[in-house]
Amino acid sequence: MNPDNDQLNYYYEKIDRLSLYDAELAKLKDKPAITKDGREITLTANLDLMDEIDLIIQNGASGIGLVRTEQLFNDISQFPDEEEQFKVYLDIAEKVYPENIIIRAFDIGGDKVLPLNVKEPNPFLGWRGIRFLLDNRELFETQIKAILRASVHKNVKFMIPMIASIAEIRKTRNIIADCKKELTEAGIEFDDDMAFGIMVEVPSVAVMAKDFAKEVDFLSIGTNDLIMYLLAVDRGNDIVSGQYQEFHPAVLRSLKYIIDGAKEENTLVSLCGEMAADFLATPLLVGLGLDSLSASPAAIPQIKKIIRSLNYSDLKILADECLQFSTVQEIIDHINNFFRKNLTEDSENIL
Ligand code: PEP
Ligand code: MG
Repeated sequence: MNPDNDQLNYYYEKIDRLSLYDAELAKLKDKPAITKDGREITLTANLDLMDEIDLIIQNGASGIGLVRTEQLFNDISQFPDEEEQFKVYLDIAEKVYPENIIIRAFDIGGDKVLPLNVKEPNPFLGWRGIRFLLDNRELFETQIKAILRASVHKNVKFMIPMIASIAEIRKTRNIIADCKKELTEAGIEFDDDMAFGIMVEVPSVAVMAKDFAKEVDFLSIGTNDLIMYLLAVDRGNDIVSGQYQEFHPAVLRSLKYIIDGAKEENTLVSLCGEMAADFLATPLLVGLGLDSLSASPAAIPQIKKIIRSLNYSDLKILADECLQFSTVQEIIDHINNFFRKNLTEDSENIL
């Protein structure tokens, strides 16, 4: 309230500086997210609301790395029928074409509404994601058929949430096969090669990353949940949310283990949790060897700029150094120093 002249000038200057900076970022729209020494990252956006598609295209994302289908429909408690879902998924696929989209099956339960009158003592460890879907087969089949039909232009991939065991993947594969058979018999077109992947959100998958990578076409690391389950911290709980630390050494080492496991199996590995939109994490995530990052649409230009300003060879060294530390603070200090040294202009606007 009632700022003096010095304060006003400070903010006017800041507005001018940031709008110049935004104009500079906007110029990167059609450029790839490639490091100076040629490592290209597929930089995609997460989609929660249909309204975000324009921003995704405008901000130069290379497609959509996560469609949160449980957020798309007005009233998820009345599960949308196949036709309604098909129209929405096809619309997204066509708007983004020829780029790809990854549609995730309904991730309900946990902190997301469970559209049934079920009271669970511990919803985060309860009837969530794939567990709910496998127990509600008709609903799951309806969604899979809608997604298959929307894959007709061959730019749709399918992903399942909250996987904890290989058996869940194999059961889902069988259901996909049944759905394909039904569509074929009805003479309905779809992409028979639609890629199939899983979210890595449960520590059991991180521990067995190579085994899981063998089963699917791609892995997408959901750090929002993975960090919560790995560190046993509910970040929605104010009392302990300070202990929800994405730069915890155990998080970094888990990421490294997952990425290396995927690479051994030649399985693409992406990261689509909020960590992908934390600019401080970008150099580290690229250095760890991720093929793709998927973040909220607004974050795309800045992430692209950071990637384009750096050498992958330096980022690999940064990641290796960070993996040696055993405390959060050492890791954060190290990355901050890296930023100040290598990204002077961005540091002023980001840090
Ligand atoms: C995640 O867990 O990181 C994730 C991307 O899924 P959601 O945020 O929808 O749980
Ligand atoms: Mg999640």
